[in-house]
Amino acid sequence: MSEEIIVINPATREEIGKVQKDSQDDIEKKIDLADETFKSFKKLTAYERADLLFKWADKIDKNKEEIAELVTKEGGKPLTEALGEVDYANSYIRYYAEEAKRIYGRTVPSSKENNRIVVTRHPIGVVAAITPWNFPVAMMARKAAPAVAAGNTFIVKPASATPLSAMKFIDLALEAGFDKGVIQYVNASGKDAGEIFTKSDKIMKLTFTGSTAVGKKLMSDASVTVKNVTMELGGHAPLIVHKDADIDKAVEGTIASKFRNSGQTCVCANRLYVHEDVLEEYTEKLTAKVKELKMGNGMEDGVKIGPLIDEDGYDKVMNQLEDAISKGAKVETGGQGNKEAGYFIEPTVLSNVSDDMLCMKEETFGPLAPIQSYSNLDEAVAKANGTEFGLAAYYFTENYATGVYLTDVLDFGVLGWNNGAPSAANIPFGGLKESGVGREGAIEGLEPYTETKVTSINL
Ligand code: NAP
Repeated sequence: MSEEIIVINPATREEIGKVQKDSQDDIEKKIDLADETFKSFKKLTAYERADLLFKWADKIDKNKEEIAELVTKEGGKPLTEALGEVDYANSYIRYYAEEAKRIYGRTVPSSKENNRIVVTRHPIGVVAAITPWNFPVAMMARKAAPAVAAGNTFIVKPASATPLSAMKFIDLALEAGFDKGVIQYVNASGKDAGEIFTKSDKIMKLTFTGSTAVGKKLMSDASVTVKNVTMELGGHAPLIVHKDADIDKAVEGTIASKFRNSGQTCVCANRLYVHEDVLEEYTEKLTAKVKELKMGNGMEDGVKIGPLIDEDGYDKVMNQLEDAISKGAKVETGGQGNKEAGYFIEPTVLSNVSDDMLCMKEETFGPLAPIQSYSNLDEAVAKANGTEFGLAAYYFTENYATGVYLTDVLDFGVLGWNNGAPSAANIPFGGLKESGVGREGAIEGLEPYTETKVTSINL
């Protein structure tokens, strides 16, 4: 087993850093420290915890450029997107600093005389997190901020592709004044960390963002110690453009949803269903906009499409592309890949797409936009819902009744109506079906980091 994680810049395939792996013993010692620290940390008032979170957010603001550059260099996304990710991550820290003060209990009217019932909320204990590479700081902040706001201690295992930005992010928490046992990271393979976390009886909650396959394994392993789990898993988002859509809005929303992070987000529009009456206009306008997207190293000015994260990611997208072309898809723009210097695939629009193509059946995680036309909205809805995933869906219509109808019938947790980027700290985010369990963001993202106690008092 290698003792180091080598970090590669996917835009150049060059090594940009190494981090020491934690051994099993190191990880267990960090869990012990988190467990020990919990005893004192939970005694802080909500106002003291909020104050520490605000100080952490201020440190992040001051170091924003440095964190963003790490995100770009290890993950590949354009620097403007990386700066946006740091702001987005920080919005969760500030949001939960406020919410720390509003972890309310309640009193319940009793059915008996001389009896009072009081419900109180308490921190759970040590929270372990495993996070992905596609938003290395934001996915961690969405977990760390509510966990700590509620009085828990927190340990994260960042993705092996992108540990540097996560480490910097957590170092700033210590600089902000958090005790070192409150927020920690471990560097290890997912498999090793997952086994240690799920077996530990000191870890009371496991929160994971990543693929559905790994999430299922973690849920199963975590059942041995009956852990509280939050699972933010894969997606296969449909995007419907109805005949009454504003096509410019639909194109703008498609670009925002499909091509952010080169199509490597869990909420990326993966399947575009377009009404036949507006197919030509939409395809032409989308193709024209996609042609303007500059591809290159994310550190260069004006780049909108960076590389894919690694060779596996590149091969998966190229395979979907070749499969679609072999089954009759037409390349409107893009279609070429090149992995000599970095893992680059041109932003691509495909038309004449059919249901049997891999890109309509699997999560793509790349800059590939396949368009299929429909004539009947209910057929489009049936296709949109015909997946084991239920994370995000998008629809474009200027008709209020059609929009409300789609809200009701689409089986997805995050819905963007005329909106290609619906996520924010103050709204609940999460999936139905095999896209996950639980929500992050908003009040729904705080509750899973608390336990409820009831005290029934006979007077
Ligand atoms: P992944 O392979 O599941 O990896 C995610 C994390 O899990 C990494 O830290 C990885 O560690 C770790 N891991 C891998 N194998 C593991 C195991 N056997 N046990 C425990 N942990 C393990 O997913 P990914 O390729 O990084 O990310 C892409 C997936 O994440 C996509 O499916 C995407 O839709 C999903 N995602 C979902 C959301 C959401 O909010 N729902 C957000 C972002 C991404 P190593 O890096 O060391 O392998």
